Amino acid sequence: MAERTLTQTALKHFRTLLDERRAETLVHLAALEDDLGVARQARAEGSADDEHDPDGPTMSQAWSQLSGQIVDVNAEIIGIDAAIDRIERGTFGVCVNCGNQIAKARLEARPAAEYCIDCARKQR
Ligand SMILES: [Zn+2]
Repeated sequence: MAERTLTQTALKHFRTLLDERRAETLVHLAALEDDLGVARQARAEGSADDEHDPDGPTMSQAWSQLSGQIVDVNAEIIGIDAAIDRIERGTFGVCVNCGNQIAKARLEARPAAEYCIDCARKQR
């Protein structure tokens, strides 16, 4: 079921999707960085939480969780930027591994997808 390369209309559609997703992701990142700022301040002030609630999540656990989320969100933005770049270079929707067309349904769900479903499965 070889699909034709994407039409200009489809490319415009995915460009819009990517721009929207990028904007949402930036908002998400800003919120995470705010939270991290709060955690950083609490840590700088010497958090008493760690001693009072040894079974609860500690400040440093919250800290590393937030840092991990920020890394993920940053990676997502890089992925979105790369996809926008592929639109501009005319290689959007082509699997970077095997060169096959990525299914449109997959791009609808994950417009920043680099791999076709088969290659994505092999990556894991
Ligand atoms: Zn592939």
